[in-house]
Amino acid sequence: MKTLVCTTPGQFEYQPGVKPELTPDHAILRIRRIGICGTDLHAFEGTQPFFTYPRILGHELAGELVAADNAPGFKPGETVTFIPYFNCGHCVACRAGKTNCCVSLQVSGIHMDGGMVEYLSVPTYSLVHGDGLSVDELALVEPLSIGAHGIRRADVQPGEWVLVVGAGPIGLGVMEFARIAGGNVIALDINESRLAFCRNKLHVNHTVLATDANVVEQLAMITSGDMPTVVIDATGSLRAINNAFQYMAHGARYVLVGLQKGDVSFSHPDFHKREGTLMSSRNAMRADFEHVIASIKDGQIDPTTYITHRVPFGQVRDDFAGWLDPANGVIKAMVEL
Ligand SMILES: [Zn+2]
Ligand SMILES: [Zn+2]
Repeated sequence: MKTLVCTTPGQFEYQPGVKPELTPDHAILRIRRIGICGTDLHAFEGTQPFFTYPRILGHELAGELVAADNAPGFKPGETVTFIPYFNCGHCVACRAGKTNCCVSLQVSGIHMDGGMVEYLSVPTYSLVHGDGLSVDELALVEPLSIGAHGIRRADVQPGEWVLVVGAGPIGLGVMEFARIAGGNVIALDINESRLAFCRNKLHVNHTVLATDANVVEQLAMITSGDMPTVVIDATGSLRAINNAFQYMAHGARYVLVGLQKGDVSFSHPDFHKREGTLMSSRNAMRADFEHVIASIKDGQIDPTTYITHRVPFGQVRDDFAGWLDPANGVIKAMVEL
């Protein structure tokens, strides 16, 4: 079995692996699609928090169910994805149903070896039915679920102004689910071509270039002076995160979906006078995966428009470094097996 191992930052190696055997309460998947995520790019660069090497990356996966033990309702041969956040089931977060932020969470492809392999064993509790989606669509369910979860955390109400900072793949998902929740989306990014993508493909009516001198004034103009009542960071950039506190309306919620390594800082008086709410949004839950799949099935989102690059598994090592270069315009690279 071929595997692709990130041996150290900046280095990939194809290595022979052992095809997994069926064990109790587990399923074997034949991997068909691997979506490449910002986390994978940061892991390769060596800038991802909580990361050790060597590691097999890959957590945005679609595959064929080869065999399963104790998976009622799942049939060999069906197309599935899975929730790649493995939880302990008994910590304080798990007991509260917040398995996405389990105290000892193990994310496939981050804390443990993931899906850049031909066959993968996963716990059966993590399986999600493909429900008629294509393997391309299914491999996009996980990153979209991150956005759906962020919007659920923010509890976006119809008619609210939702500022989404960062128009990468995670930010695009945030925008889609903000719209589905009835929010009025404003996209903010430093890259004009990404903003053009939001206008043309996602029908986002309001976009603001983050490098403009008068971002606050532009946001005030768009929101008739109110400013956004929901601000969501999807950049994972410390500078962007610190900067966006000033975009909050009085009474606003600020949700950090992106993650970076440093300490966030903001003016307490400015935050206090707004009675701001700051929260993080980690991973996603089964309800988010189901919401995403239903939204794709309903035609409310067509995430395959995000796929800008496609490669066979054998070519990932050679192409991967290029996906880090903004000049290549990667939104989502998809690996085919
Ligand atoms: Zn991801
Ligand atoms: Zn737990």
